[in-house]
Amino acid sequence: MAKKEKNTPENIQFQKIISHAKEYGFVFPSSEVYDGLQAVYDYGQNGVQLKNNLKQIWWKAMTQLHENVVGIDAAIFMHPTVWKASGHVDSFNDPMIDNKDSKKRYRADVLVENRAAEYAKNGENDRSEALLQKLGKLQEEENLDGIRDLIIEENIVCAVSETANWTEVRQFNLMFATEIGSVSDDASKVYLRPETAQGIFVNFLNVQQTGRMKVPFGIAQIGKAFRNEIVARQFIFRMREFEQMEMQYFVRPGEEKESYDYWKATRIKFLEALGIPADKLRFHDHIKLAHYANAAADIEFEFPFGWKELEGIHSRTDFDLTKHQEFSKKKMQYFDEEVEDKDKKRYIPYVVETSIGADRLFLAILCQAYTEDTGVDAKGQEKTRLYLRLHPVLAPTKVAVFPLVKKDGLPEKAKEVFELLRYDFETVYEDRGAIGKNYTRQDLVGTPFCITVDHQTLEDNTVTLRHRDSTEQERLNISDLRVKIGEAVSLKNIFKALR
Ligand code: ATP
Repeated sequence: MAKKEKNTPENIQFQKIISHAKEYGFVFPSSEVYDGLQAVYDYGQNGVQLKNNLKQIWWKAMTQLHENVVGIDAAIFMHPTVWKASGHVDSFNDPMIDNKDSKKRYRADVLVENRAAEYAKNGENDRSEALLQKLGKLQEEENLDGIRDLIIEENIVCAVSETANWTEVRQFNLMFATEIGSVSDDASKVYLRPETAQGIFVNFLNVQQTGRMKVPFGIAQIGKAFRNEIVARQFIFRMREFEQMEMQYFVRPGEEKESYDYWKATRIKFLEALGIPADKLRFHDHIKLAHYANAAADIEFEFPFGWKELEGIHSRTDFDLTKHQEFSKKKMQYFDEEVEDKDKKRYIPYVVETSIGADRLFLAILCQAYTEDTGVDAKGQEKTRLYLRLHPVLAPTKVAVFPLVKKDGLPEKAKEVFELLRYDFETVYEDRGAIGKNYTRQDLVGTPFCITVDHQTLEDNTVTLRHRDSTEQERLNISDLRVKIGEAVSLKNIFKALR
């Protein structure tokens, strides 16, 4: 199956994006000099800027634009009982299967899902649907042998050995464990958190009381999470160490539906405001709900490798707080002065969660921004221009300043312009190489503006400002640059779309 997929246009496109990310300092394989570590990646000089911009915008969209949403930063290590209470110790599992010949490990459900996707791609939608339903039923029944039988029935083979010599299907817990302190016994076993949400739940009362928060209110957090993923492919889509941006919104029981609808609409608007077109986003409503949820939807993005989850929005009822109350023996109740009925004044709030991976959002933005424009140049030759069409607010570098030539006082003048801008915007100065090449380099990392200082600048203090997407140039007075660039890169451009 994987072999056939190798040279599809979508796969070629995705490979190009991965190479681009590496070549231009966005994402490197971790410990690359030692041939990398599977599903672990490092962000390079441009990648970290882009990722920081994404995180900052998410953070501000949550906390600055919502008076009743505040942030926290909880530790990665938590008391081990947290993960007992949340259900992760007992059931944060994926079903895995090994091929005995290649020794390659797969997620059993994903093997079947991929086969269904293959049917759908060939226009056999009914067959695909029927297969997914069969799988869903087996998952519900936790029937691992049944899933294995389905793999055999469908004659699914290992992509490497091309055999169907499969082991049993077994459950595999995705949490990484380590030890805390110097005594190695069971009591000192701790986990690297597999989600950031629990750090919010256990701090619910701390924040509510110290911040005098009134329900409804939300707590937002950005932080690392760790999962020992079985299927670790597709670049930074599925990583073993990744970052989540989660927000838990605490509401009165019975008011969760309204809140759930609000956050679904708001989160889609947010993604569109970042430059993702509406037709590349869709909701996938969960029919089969997790035991703790009464409604759940994924926002899916059309990655080059298909429609996949980008963000989850879950109405989690009072499950988590109730569990922590039960395990910690500490009351997790909120006293609501505004509720008239005195029997209903005290309650455990319901929770609506929005959860998006910073890395997955980064990948969606990168895939969306990667643009190849083919046109005809001045000499009538066909040429492809490659650039990252990033929203100016997201671009790692906002503006690059070049002197036209490295003499006649132009570098000195260009440095003056650089000094004028660098305190407000991520600005670079470059006096090596030809202007055309410098423009190309900036296009490849998504810099929205390039400024060239030429001989005319020395006479009238004007420069050319080149726009990345249109490649058009305009002549501007140096004194107008800050306002012009400032307007284009203002966070307001994103936030306006959210109001
Ligand atoms: P999936 O079905 O893709 O494994 P999930 O449903 O387990 O995802 P959640 O637990 O809801 O994901 O996590 C919320 C968000 O965190 C996801 O929508 C995704 O953006 C991100 N995320 C989850 N697992 C990973 C991972 N291994 N690597 C990168 N991002 C992840």
